Amino acid sequence: MNRVMTEQELLDSFEDAVKDGHIYVLYQPKINHSTGRMIGAEALMRWSNPEYGMQYPSDFIPVLEKNDLIYRADLAVFESVCRFQRGCLDNGIKPVPISVNMSRYDIYRKKYVEKIEELRIKYDIPVKYIHVEITETSAIGGMELVSGVLKQLHEYGYIVEMDDFGSGYSSLNVLKDLSVDVIKLDMRFLSGNIGGRGGTIISAIVQMAKWLGTPIIAEGVETMEQADYMKSIGCKYIQGYLYSKPVSEKEFLEKMQQLGHEPMTPAMALITAIDAGKFWDPSSMETLIFNNFVGGAVIFSYQKGKQCAHAA
Ligand code: C2E
Ligand code: CA
Ligand code: CA
Repeated sequence: MNRVMTEQELLDSFEDAVKDGHIYVLYQPKINHSTGRMIGAEALMRWSNPEYGMQYPSDFIPVLEKNDLIYRADLAVFESVCRFQRGCLDNGIKPVPISVNMSRYDIYRKKYVEKIEELRIKYDIPVKYIHVEITETSAIGGMELVSGVLKQLHEYGYIVEMDDFGSGYSSLNVLKDLSVDVIKLDMRFLSGNIGGRGGTIISAIVQMAKWLGTPIIAEGVETMEQADYMKSIGCKYIQGYLYSKPVSEKEFLEKMQQLGHEPMTPAMALITAIDAGKFWDPSSMETLIFNNFVGGAVIFSYQKGKQCAHAA
């Protein structure tokens, strides 16, 4: 019988699920929309229960988080990714970087980063082949805590991606305080008419990422129109159903061969191309760009504020 499991059923079967590999990984490619080649992938957790069938993260992750079990599931995912990358290396297949999600509850666990590092070393995977995604909501537990974890990840050499950028209520502050290496912008948070307000906000965020010299990936991209729009405003990296749903290891390997892959390149750091000394001049191009950028950011916080007010 296929159905969503209750909290108690999930908890009762968790140990077996970890032990017997019922918790497993699907891979969703990240694509350069300009070349059609892959630049990486995200590992997404699934739970297949022998009795109740496939369970989705939205149903079981909150239960695992609430019961302080998510770190074990996340470590199982991390190990699966290490195993997959080791398989590629052993078979002469050049790996693509795969990003692994880190729950905000993992950040509270003192030894979590050391644990993933132990796994990476055990499987002897070069650090460039595993990225870590943290969400901006991680900062809820305190900025010092999350910036400490970020520092530790950076010391080990991990590329850290900020997931779900724009979904929280203080996205710009989080970005200011956390020096992440990649920004992931979920189109679904800013959905609606891309020619309208949503489009203006997205475009301002892409500009901001360029100013910071931080590559940006648009996720949740479902249509060619969205992908083309993102490319036209300078965001060529895309993840979403348009290119591929999350797929099994086997299908993912086929996609790697089919599409080929290439490294992600850093966004052009506009700041280096701009003469900051010209900011005093109200008619200069630098001032014009700066005002557009700040204007976009203000609209953005205003919009989030409005959403917050609606929700209240
Ligand atoms: P996320 O990290 O933002 O992952 C992206 C989610 O968007 C995935 O859902 C993916 O299947 C879905 N998605 C991708 N492209 C599209 C699209 O074009 N349209 C739509 N409508 N959806 C798209 P999924 O796999 O159900 O995961 C949901 C969330 O569960 C993830 O959101 C993440 O927060 C969490 N999650 C998944 N795997 C893990 C994991 O290993 N560890 C932890 N801690 N959380 C995980
Ligand atoms: Ca993610
Ligand atoms: Ca996301």
